[in-house]
Amino acid sequence: MRRVYLDNNATTPLLPEVFEAMRPYFAERFGNASSIHHHGQETRAAVENARESVANLIACHASEIVFTSGGTEADNLAIAGLTSPGDHVITSSIEHHAVLHAAKHLDEIGCEATFVPVDGRGLVDPGDVRRALRPNTKLISIMMANNETGVLQPVEEIGKVATEAGVLFHTDAVQAAGKVPIDVARHGCHALSISGHKMHAPQGVGALYVRKGTRLQPQFYGGRHERSRRAGTENVPGIVALGEASRLVNAALDRGDDDQIAALRDRLEQGILAQVDEAGVNGHSAPRTPNTTNIHFDGIEGEAIVIALDLKGLAVSTGAACSSGAIEPSHVLLAMGLRPDQARASIRFSLGKQTTAEDIDFALTLVPETVARLRELSPVYRKQAISS
Ligand code: PLP
Repeated sequence: MRRVYLDNNATTPLLPEVFEAMRPYFAERFGNASSIHHHGQETRAAVENARESVANLIACHASEIVFTSGGTEADNLAIAGLTSPGDHVITSSIEHHAVLHAAKHLDEIGCEATFVPVDGRGLVDPGDVRRALRPNTKLISIMMANNETGVLQPVEEIGKVATEAGVLFHTDAVQAAGKVPIDVARHGCHALSISGHKMHAPQGVGALYVRKGTRLQPQFYGGRHERSRRAGTENVPGIVALGEASRLVNAALDRGDDDQIAALRDRLEQGILAQVDEAGVNGHSAPRTPNTTNIHFDGIEGEAIVIALDLKGLAVSTGAACSSGAIEPSHVLLAMGLRPDQARASIRFSLGKQTTAEDIDFALTLVPETVARLRELSPVYRKQAISS
């Protein structure tokens, strides 16, 4: 059976070059990167080489990169490591749970958090961020690209608000890295999170950029790894893979490969909208990452569409991977003003570097017929159709 994977915002397949680069570090090059003998020096060199590549991807110095176990840890390290009890934090209502729940937890330990809203396009207004500032505001954390809609936030303007106010700015760039150019100086951020498995490296590795001179309270107690910013023996194969993936996605961005992904995404989006009534793109008028489209198919449950498409060989998602299976509508889509039934009827299609024109053709034959069949079966949809 043919299988097409359009859920790259949940996770991406390893690029073969990335797998080849990391492979020796599972077996013959096994040293602990903190050991002073030959074996340790070999892996230390590989880790530092990877650090350079990651730094190149986001235009910072290698010494400003802290390797972590993924995007969630990077976000938590930034939120908890840059604040202390009594501080105020500004974030948004559409953040990934790694930021949202970390900020809610701060509330419980004597910090205050403000969650700024988004408009109907899914965009944070930098003016709202400015108006939320208080004398004790320490940190602003606003994501670069939303994982459900792909909507790109005005991080540069938010960075200016932070600079003018003299507060720290963290951005979760997990869904932006490798899809849009990143330049930490241009964005004005003091901290930025990335995750390997969203950019064709493996799951379980990520990094936090921390601007030189920014005081970060480590969250783990242990050895002096990562310049005492993150204790724990480094995941050498994962870090090598993240370095190689960074190098490859950076080169692809330079070549403009993402224009091709955007063209495929646009063809998918337009093809679906041309064939399916009462459907619309969530966040369509906002700037978006080239690989993502999130579409509501009114009158049916997103979960039912995901299951029906999966049975035919097409993998898509109702939104954040961790909320798949839950019946609550997406907090992101509700924050954008969608009705709960429309939010529940929304599907995320996310393309990757391996996506082909044939994959899009496959999706374009399956999605309209599946939606039509489910609507036939849906008493809610048929009632709406009769009464309108
Ligand atoms: N931030 C965003 C925007 C994400 O999409 C994700 C993963 O879905 C994360 C953070 C968490 O990253 P990880 O899965 O590496 O912990």
